[in-house]
Amino acid sequence: MSMVAEKIRNPFHVAQRQFDIAAEALRLDQGLRLKLRVPRRALIVSVPFERDDGSWMVVQGYRVQHDVSRGPAKGGIRYHPQVTLDEVKALAMWMTWKCAVVNLPYGGAKGGIEVDPKALSLHELEKMTRRYTNEIAIIIGPEKDIPAPDVYTDAQVMAWIMDTFTMRQGFASPGVVTGKPLSIGGSLGRREATARGCTYTIEEACKHMGKPLAGMTVAIQGYGNAGSIAHDLLHERGAKVVAVSDSRGGAHSTHGLDPKEVQAHKKDSGSVVGTPGTDRIGNRELLELKVDILVPAALENQITEDNAPRIKPRILAEAANGPTTPEADLILHENGVFLIPDILANAGGVTVSYFEWVQDLANYFWTEDEVNQKLETVMRRSFRDVMAIAEKHRVNNRTAAYMLGIGRVAEATRVRGIYG
Ligand code: NAD
Repeated sequence: MSMVAEKIRNPFHVAQRQFDIAAEALRLDQGLRLKLRVPRRALIVSVPFERDDGSWMVVQGYRVQHDVSRGPAKGGIRYHPQVTLDEVKALAMWMTWKCAVVNLPYGGAKGGIEVDPKALSLHELEKMTRRYTNEIAIIIGPEKDIPAPDVYTDAQVMAWIMDTFTMRQGFASPGVVTGKPLSIGGSLGRREATARGCTYTIEEACKHMGKPLAGMTVAIQGYGNAGSIAHDLLHERGAKVVAVSDSRGGAHSTHGLDPKEVQAHKKDSGSVVGTPGTDRIGNRELLELKVDILVPAALENQITEDNAPRIKPRILAEAANGPTTPEADLILHENGVFLIPDILANAGGVTVSYFEWVQDLANYFWTEDEVNQKLETVMRRSFRDVMAIAEKHRVNNRTAAYMLGIGRVAEATRVRGIYG
């Protein structure tokens, strides 16, 4: 990739360009623009841990807090070999806008470790997680910054974080992370929340377009927490999921894929590729399939100006963060694709994380129905709020969502005053 292309696709530059478009539409003051387009603080840590064979490894980790004007910082932790500081900065900024779009009393943060977790044993993963937690413990805490799962981290990793933080404190501190196992203060419905929230927004988009979801064809890129559960929920609602993929490739069948069969095959073989009765399909090819609904649920920069002209679903629901570049946005908009932007489409995860934190602080736990009903209310209301801005200001759905989120954060910052 040329240096120019690399800069264009640098997630932090993408996040800043998206911010600039919305800041312009909102006519934000110069001071607010300068303050909100950069993170408040970024911590870089070295994480040493001993491998099972007695050798040592030192990996680089990050925790970035973008903004805390509306409440404590909130955002996931990612373990991936391609994690960079700029990626974490982008993800932290997106968290700020996302929390504001669904009106949670949180700011935005994100963390990550530049590591291939698949190359580590469970024991090594635990040691690395505990040391990383110890290093970032100076800035996290239930009233400061609350991590959660993201790519290649899960409830077990959250349990190690909670335990390490608790050991430092000397008393149980379940509110320091969300996405924990139920046995230590996790919330019912959290595991499914990102996909469930995304499904509600897809239902709303169908209603908005006057088309039933049942019978629509779907392709899903990424088959982890967000993607595999979206498969379940969309299948339950009568949609026909014709293609899914993971890091090794995809599985395609025009007859539709049964989620149970795909999940069983992935459990046995480690991948969706080769699910009986399916053809192999590449990740790039999957994005260009003629489907009604496309759900990217993997990583950033999947839809760029190179492939956007060939990507024409009726609905693009961004379960992943940052899958589409600003250049691709313009092409998709011209082609009439109805976009449900990431900071709306995948906000169900942080919404139920918020519910988990509230339950932990109150020591009072809700039923799964209560959690899902509250999530549904938040997601449907937020969808309508974004649509109202898109219609009123005649802007595309991404800019509308940004205007809603940035507008709320800017107002909190303005009324508090910039301390400087
Ligand atoms: P996960 O680790 O559970 O799953 C990631 C999936 O992506 C895996 O199936 C993996 O094989 C696949 N993948 C990795 N590289 C790929 C590639 N190059 N092409 C295709 N597939 C690839 O992660 P997750 O939690 O489901 O997160 C997926 C996306 O959703 C991320 O963008 C994340 O930031 C976003 N998200 C997650 C949550 C959450 O609560 N987990 C909330 C909001 C947003």
